[in-house]
Amino acid sequence: MTSTLVAGAATHQGGRRNNQDAVVVGDGLFGLADGVGGLSSGEVASRLALDALNADFATDRSADGLLHACQQANRAVLRRADREAVTMGTTLVAVALTTDAGVVAAHVGDSRLYRLRNGHLELLTRDHTVIAELLRAGAVSEDAADEHPHRNVLTRAIGVGPEVEVDRIELSCRPEDRLLICSDGLFKTLSTEEIEEILGSEPNPQDAAEQLVAAAVEQLSDDNVSAVVVNVE
Ligand code: MN
Repeated sequence: MTSTLVAGAATHQGGRRNNQDAVVVGDGLFGLADGVGGLSSGEVASRLALDALNADFATDRSADGLLHACQQANRAVLRRADREAVTMGTTLVAVALTTDAGVVAAHVGDSRLYRLRNGHLELLTRDHTVIAELLRAGAVSEDAADEHPHRNVLTRAIGVGPEVEVDRIELSCRPEDRLLICSDGLFKTLSTEEIEEILGSEPNPQDAAEQLVAAAVEQLSDDNVSAVVVNVE
């Protein structure tokens, strides 16, 4: 079954002085990156990753092409970090309409992909953080996790090594599904119910993305806030 994807995106610096999040709405490719690094490095990393991803995917729109594009994004950020002798990196979530495997997502880090189906939000990615991996291993309790000193430390990121392990997720999309890609500034600020409420009431993907970001910024997110909303038609 061929899906048509229609997307909108919004990003805001939130409570920070600069915006290290970046979003892309391309031709059959939708992505979000949340950069990390000192001074302006995080901003450079997230933009560079999405630009490299978009350019490389345009040359091969298959599922393998998407994974290849993620590795190209990784190399682009790593090269820039080496050249400028700084540490920078970024998360990456990409959703692509591929030529051979339908809608496929690729994911590194702690930005997230959700699907809204029949009014219910379902998380499709697993955070690549120290605490999420300890939780999955049963090594810490949910309560202890909130206090853990390494709760926000990423176990994988784009731009920190010559190769990056990328999660590939095959999405079985149905008409009327909606996908949400968001940075941690959004999902740590808004509750699942608040996200479901906005996605359930605003059909236009651009307006929905803007409303989600505005709601998180209004609730004093101390991070950058970004959302990409994709309608499956
Ligand atoms: Mn963030």
